[in-house]
Amino acid sequence: MIPVFKNEPFTDFSVPENKKKMLEAIEKLEKELGKEIPLIIGGKEVYKEEKLKSINPSNKDEVVCVFQKATSEDAQKALDSAWKAFEEWRFFPPEERANILLKAAEIARKRKFELSATMVMEVGKNWAEADADVAETIDYFEFYGREMLRYAEKQPLTPFPGEINEYFYIPLGVGVVIPPWNFPLAILSGMSSAAIVTGNCIILKPSSDSPLTGYRLVEIMKEAGLPDGVLNFLTGPGSSVGDYLVGHPKTRFIAFTGSKEVGCHIYELAAKVQEGQIWLKRVIAEMGGKDSIVVDDECILDDAVQGVLASAFGYQGQKCSACSRAIVHEKVYDEFVSKLKEKIEKIKIGPAKENHFMGPVINASAEKKILEYIEIGKKEGKLLTGGEKAEGNGFYIKPTTFYDVDPKARISQEEIFGPVLAIIKAKNFDHGIEIANNTIYGLTGSVYTLNREKIYKAKKLFHCGNLYINRKCTGALVDVHPFGGFNMSGTDSKAGGRDYLLLFLQGKSISEKIR
Ligand code: NAD
Repeated sequence: MIPVFKNEPFTDFSVPENKKKMLEAIEKLEKELGKEIPLIIGGKEVYKEEKLKSINPSNKDEVVCVFQKATSEDAQKALDSAWKAFEEWRFFPPEERANILLKAAEIARKRKFELSATMVMEVGKNWAEADADVAETIDYFEFYGREMLRYAEKQPLTPFPGEINEYFYIPLGVGVVIPPWNFPLAILSGMSSAAIVTGNCIILKPSSDSPLTGYRLVEIMKEAGLPDGVLNFLTGPGSSVGDYLVGHPKTRFIAFTGSKEVGCHIYELAAKVQEGQIWLKRVIAEMGGKDSIVVDDECILDDAVQGVLASAFGYQGQKCSACSRAIVHEKVYDEFVSKLKEKIEKIKIGPAKENHFMGPVINASAEKKILEYIEIGKKEGKLLTGGEKAEGNGFYIKPTTFYDVDPKARISQEEIFGPVLAIIKAKNFDHGIEIANNTIYGLTGSVYTLNREKIYKAKKLFHCGNLYINRKCTGALVDVHPFGGFNMSGTDSKAGGRDYLLLFLQGKSISEKIR
């Protein structure tokens, strides 16, 4: 009997033993930096002439790993071996598939510090952020394993005289999994494990900013006993190998998480029926956000300040759920602004391995884009904090806040994906909700108010997939806060929720006449 699902606890790094283990894991990884990782096609390691490098964003001179630049030929081979593996994998008993995920959870738990260290070095997460990413990964394995067993149960039907009727779920086929770098283990593993446990085979194409972290899933799944060909691993530019796979007539589904721009491109490309294609591709696309926290005059202001700070600058604002707009009631506006400024000025920035509150942004092009938005912000609002790069040999940007920003300004509307916050003044609570709903996105949101009427109103009117009340708008937990947004934030799927596996399944209805 499998025990009920429980979220993986976070590591307490104030415990000396845990701190020591984390330092050791980082030190060990530092000795292995620059190691080469292969493509995995049909269970075989493949090395290419052309290589790419993943860089430590905390220290530009450090190569984290060398990875292969796959070609469309490799993509074709990966598709062929995935379809070959599918012939057996789809008939594996659901219990066996679920067991592989449960084993994967156990392996990830044992390798926790190593997995966290990989993200500290490859994507600049501080220890707690990296640890939360590993915990979420374990949660996906545990939860989707159990969910598969639920979907495999006998499905209820209305009895009909003279017939034996059945309804059950079967997998879709071969799909492409395209995750982002910002939750390089959790989102990558969540999408992959959901696709696999439901009996599909996949080609996983990690982000070029986090291939080593992505490769950790390959290692874990191999150790857990996943058959060859079920999970193929292809690294290389999204625009070449990604387009080839998305557009291919033999691709049955695409599970994507990333920006609105790439998501819309994939959605469009996948919609075109290619010669020889015998299905309409299913696209699960989770995209960006422009998330707001509405601060009412009837709230505990210190809590609101703390919630905005954590949501806006945790992991350098590089979360789809990050708060990038604080919409504050005019009665408490000045006090909120001065309290927030005081707190932001105390934020420490530095290399992720030293575990500061803030580390670097992911790469040079993100740094450039964020700095350009900061220049736009200087024209659109009044600079409260930051506004420039921070010291160091990485991509460091100071936590930047603008106040008196117009709700329609570019920095109020466009996803910046960095440590940049716009503060907007609202006339009252209703006006605050109206502003919160004025973007093309609808991912997360939060309100700080003690007034029950207003809470009720927010529940009805604040149009976002994940609404929080009197708490920060980041940090969704698997099966506690099923995660995914409305409008241009995606296809309304809910990762870590009970509807999620259905996205990778199709229902088969069978009716037999009783003779
Ligand atoms: P991105 O869109 O640049 O890239 C995402 C993935 O798509 C990467 O693996 C990339 O290599 C690949 N890709 C790029 N071009 C492609 C193409 N033409 N065909 C196929 N694949 C292609 O996003 P990112 O910078 O990795 O991640 C940040 C974005 O992800 C932000 O917009 C953030 O809001 C969003 N995000 C959303 C969620 C969510 O749950 N809604 C979660 C995390 C991140």
